Amino acid sequence: MHKTSFYPNLENMLSGIAEEARATAIYTGRPLFSNQVMTALASVPRHKFVPETLKRQAYINSPLPIGCGQTISQPYIVALMTDLLDIENGEAVVLEVGTGCGYQTAVLAEIAKQVYSIEIIDELAEQATLRMKDLGYANVAIKSGDGYQGWPEHAPYDGILVTAAAIETPITLIQQLKPGGRLVIPVGSQGTAQDLMLVEKGDDGSVTQRPILPVAFVPFRRSSLTAAV
Ligand code: SAH
Repeated sequence: MHKTSFYPNLENMLSGIAEEARATAIYTGRPLFSNQVMTALASVPRHKFVPETLKRQAYINSPLPIGCGQTISQPYIVALMTDLLDIENGEAVVLEVGTGCGYQTAVLAEIAKQVYSIEIIDELAEQATLRMKDLGYANVAIKSGDGYQGWPEHAPYDGILVTAAAIETPITLIQQLKPGGRLVIPVGSQGTAQDLMLVEKGDDGSVTQRPILPVAFVPFRRSSLTAAV
């Protein structure tokens, strides 16, 4: 769909993801990601999500700076987090906290029926909204705000994905998960060990969580208004 001269590197990115999935399977239990996840990663034009000066590196399997002190996540991590949600039936309604440039948002939009995403930095939320429109993602809504409160108007969600490291899993997000739903979140402080956690809500509403992989994410921030509550 979005053919450009950058695309030769896409194959390298995809094989890098597949290789890292095999290498980390001992932790994740997932040596292979689903076809839908790999197809989504192949479909989203990552060079449209990075600053002009970094376009040539867009298909390297690593995180990159996007401005405002934030980053675009590593493609392998985006693939892993998406795969862990198990949302392949085409019916899922998903919440993302930490839109950033919107790369993970677009990957989710390739698979889910509807994606809601919250970004605390207004400028990034505005840019990501325009980018989604330009790329024709009609099943995405982005708002600016503190994602700690989730987006209750559209809850409950089949899947919730948080892309900034929190000290603990916000209870509000667990509450907005459907029975049978899954939440993927990095937990830990910046500079110390963080764990990517998979939180599962059983059909009976019971909640279990387990660490999947050590990771390094930018910190989950709180707006001064909501943090005081
Ligand atoms: N999902 C992005 C990664 C973004 S980095 C990608 O695909 O590349 C994490 C983002 O989370 C940053 O843009 C940061 O501003 C945002 N963030 C941090 N704390 C937040 C909060 N409480 N609510 C919403 N967004 C937050």
